Amino acid sequence: MTETISGVGGLRLTGATLAGGQPGLVRIERGLVTDVAETPAALECSSAGADGTEPVNRREHLDLTGYVLLPAAAEPHAHLDKALTWDAVGCAPGDLRHAVVSWREWSRKLSPANVRQRALRALEDLVAHGATAVRTHVDLGPTASRLPVIEALVSLRDEVAGAVWVQLAALTAPDTPESVVRQALAAGIDLVGGVPHLADDPTAETRRLFALAEHAGAGLDLHIDEHLAPAPLTLLELARLARDTPLPRGITASHCVSLGMLAPSRRQEVVEALAQTTIGIVTLPLTNLYLQGRGWSSSPPRGLTAVQSLLDAGIPVAAGGDNIRDPFNPMGRADPLETASLLVTAGHLGVVEAYDAVSTTARRVLGLDPAGPVKGAAADLLAVKAESLSEAIATGTEDRLVIRAGQVIRRTTVTRSGPALSGVRSGRPEATELVATSG
Ligand SMILES: [Zn+2]
Repeated sequence: MTETISGVGGLRLTGATLAGGQPGLVRIERGLVTDVAETPAALECSSAGADGTEPVNRREHLDLTGYVLLPAAAEPHAHLDKALTWDAVGCAPGDLRHAVVSWREWSRKLSPANVRQRALRALEDLVAHGATAVRTHVDLGPTASRLPVIEALVSLRDEVAGAVWVQLAALTAPDTPESVVRQALAAGIDLVGGVPHLADDPTAETRRLFALAEHAGAGLDLHIDEHLAPAPLTLLELARLARDTPLPRGITASHCVSLGMLAPSRRQEVVEALAQTTIGIVTLPLTNLYLQGRGWSSSPPRGLTAVQSLLDAGIPVAAGGDNIRDPFNPMGRADPLETASLLVTAGHLGVVEAYDAVSTTARRVLGLDPAGPVKGAAADLLAVKAESLSEAIATGTEDRLVIRAGQVIRRTTVTRSGPALSGVRSGRPEATELVATSG
């Protein structure tokens, strides 16, 4: 059951366990975490009103006993215009090009109302699962026909801004004219996006998209090298461009699949080039485990980027869910804990690193202030019913509570009923009865 709880002013959280295993009592005022303590006495001493805030007993109190309290998640890479269409499209499973063709064919007559309804449903799931910020890519085609969809999602973004921070990136196809990209930016889209590796001249497409973002003063988020071959390597070109011309609104390189397949010396060359920039990387295990390596007769690669090499070089690596049940991936729960779980099992990160990639680093890549149960941070928090962070990621329970800017915006509770397993009488005859009757 998910319920919406109205906003409150001050909030006091008690009973929760923090990611490090220690108790965490949290005081929140005006959207910020103003204090974190391990005992009620410490929290109440420090919140006695010396700073002019209201006394502790006049704040709303929430008992989070049995929950682990974490920074809220952020989804750095979604496709809300495609979400929840797998069954309707009805295509066979396949690789990236198959998905692109299937989607283009099916989505020709897509109405803005249909996109809005599915996008809102996907956003609802993302928020209930703990994401208080979401970046979504939105398709632009060869004509201006997708602009009404862009306008519908710009409206939706603004309507839900109190609950979730949505950023829109124009997913520019290689055959999308620059005039259409400019129209999308004028309609209110936040970032320029694209897929240079699908263009006939990937390097020229990388430069075209970079220039469009630079001239518009917009951020840039590109689908980069979403393939297993050593070429094209547009990530290196993007790093060169970013080194020479940093964009104030930020540059994100999503996917970067081929980086994980390069020979070590070539991979290190690219990583060192990235380290000279402020580019943030977004890895997308759920979709790339599905799309890449099809047709390999044995030992198919995992399709992930070189996560550990990037982290070792100090480069921010965020992780997202990408597709939510569309032609690019029939799976996906719109759940950052699902992504974190895959980072542990398929990406071999520790649980702390994995959750950081879907929360703190994801917010950083989105250009947002830090959040979490830390004094001075934004009070965007996720409480998961679990004894530890590893249990929260492993079970992925729906039993969660989501706080945005100090307000509880979603609470989902799970009820399991039935007798104790040891108290259930068998519905079948006992073995001794079977022996007796068969004799
Ligand atoms: Zn994508």
